[in-house]
Amino acid sequence: MPQPASTVDAALTEPAGATTAKPRKVPRVVVLGGGTVGLYTARRLRKRLGGREAAIVVVDPRPYMTYAPFLPETAAGSIDARNVVAPHRRALKGADVLQGKVTHIEHAKRRVEITPEAGDPYWISYDHLVVGLGSVARTLPIPGLAEQGIGFKNVEEAIALRNHVLNRIDVASSTWDPELRRKLLTFVFVGGGFAGVEALAEVEDMARYAVRHYKQIEPEELRFVLVEGSRRILPEVNEELGGYTLEQLRKRNIEIHLSTFLSSCVDGHVVLSTGIEFDADTLVWTAGVRANPVLADSDLPLDKLGRVTCNEYLQVVDAEGHVVPDAYAAGDCAAVPDLYNPGQFCPPNAQHALREGNHLGDNLARALRSAELEPYKHKNIGAVASLGMYKGVAQMFGKIKVRGFLAWVLHRSYHVAAMPTFNRKLRIAAGWTGSLLLRREVVALGSLHDPRAEFRAASVPAARPVAPPAVSPAVPPAVPAPEKPAAS
Ligand SMILES: Cc1cc2nc3c(=O)[nH]c(=O)nc-3n(C[C@H](O)[C@H](O)[C@H](O)COP(=O)(O)OP(=O)(O)OC[C@H]3O[C@@H](n4cnc5c(N)ncnc54)[C@H](O)[C@@H]3O)c2cc1C
Repeated sequence: MPQPASTVDAALTEPAGATTAKPRKVPRVVVLGGGTVGLYTARRLRKRLGGREAAIVVVDPRPYMTYAPFLPETAAGSIDARNVVAPHRRALKGADVLQGKVTHIEHAKRRVEITPEAGDPYWISYDHLVVGLGSVARTLPIPGLAEQGIGFKNVEEAIALRNHVLNRIDVASSTWDPELRRKLLTFVFVGGGFAGVEALAEVEDMARYAVRHYKQIEPEELRFVLVEGSRRILPEVNEELGGYTLEQLRKRNIEIHLSTFLSSCVDGHVVLSTGIEFDADTLVWTAGVRANPVLADSDLPLDKLGRVTCNEYLQVVDAEGHVVPDAYAAGDCAAVPDLYNPGQFCPPNAQHALREGNHLGDNLARALRSAELEPYKHKNIGAVASLGMYKGVAQMFGKIKVRGFLAWVLHRSYHVAAMPTFNRKLRIAAGWTGSLLLRREVVALGSLHDPRAEFRAASVPAARPVAPPAVSPAVPPAVPAPEKPAAS
């Protein structure tokens, strides 16, 4: 029978076969995912309701929420990786946090299965469900992609990319094989949306800064390539700002292939749909997202894109629009109607996820107090992007277009204000102040990704285990002990 791990509060778990939950005095709200939606919903709900009105349980395999808009700057080293995450245990005071993956959702039975990193899966039951499971990278069956590609969705990938790029520069500086050098110093980004363009621009800026410290590498040897399937980049801003960004990136010698697809990248040999071929040791995949696939393993209603279908109150609804009782969803994994653009859904971004999270917390508090729910309504306030140190592009309230240094300042100010917890805001601002005075640090800590490698290499292979004596000491050994060689 599945058993809770010792760190899990046994009162939260149910035996595997349990079909009905025991009646509870305090209704239990289970929040799936402790990301933007999960964290903000749980915090708002806790603020609105006391411990006797609702028990809150947040489930996530990671012990922290990641503020993804800062990942490009994390990869560039402008923000310390620890400061773009909000640790659940600190940020979710008054809620129980379970570390593990949700692997099944049976809403009809009001229960979810959780698979912890170690130990057996277990079920927990609930009275109300909040789904904030976010999205995963949308990949395609391109030869070589699974083996060569790096995603850019979480902080682990951002740190890995930074170390990898700096490490490739280190390795290239110590080889004179021209073909190998070219391959090591070629960096390909696939996907020209916000995440891809910001990641590319920030990492390129960092790499160019880093090579100033390498006598053996000329800046022109760095080759950054962006591959985008549509005819423009940054669909989140208007054509003019998208065009401006394109021009800025091209001025920095970044190669941009529009209306082009990645056809193959087996062993680092990149082939584009236009027939262009070259070798690259780094391929970053930022070509879109899709709703968390675990939702397919649930009885919640989903749309064609695999998102939970919702109404404007963030309640889950079926295909006919009937409310599924006690279930709510928001963020990247939910199809939430955009009341400012009838017939459309809110785009998957932090701007909406954060506000939907707060709104969901308010609505759930209203529901638990039998008050009337309010519709979620948010007019897009615009988009801001950083393109490296002191460079940026922004479009505010649909009309105001900002470029260069001012846009970069807007980007930093907007996102630091949106970053959860005062502690993190302060740390990020302090880090920026420090790097203005001390310049940025560009060192690859490659061994972070395999910290046991050196120890493994130094380890003496263990002798084969010796079987314990099969007979008691009173019985003479079956095989006589080898004789001592005679002294010559
Ligand atoms: C590189 C990058 C840059 C971005 N830049 C911007 C930007 O500039 N502006 C903007 O508005 N938006 C931006 N976004 C988008 C924005 O970050 C997302 O839209 C937003 O975070 C979505 O919030 P969410 O709560 O739906 O998902 P998330 O914040 O991703 O949270 C999902 C949570 O679910 C957890 N989870 C996953 N699987 C399971 C499971 N099986 N069981 C339990 N928990 C699980 C995850 O660990 C995570 O904590 C960016 C995204 C990326 C990747």
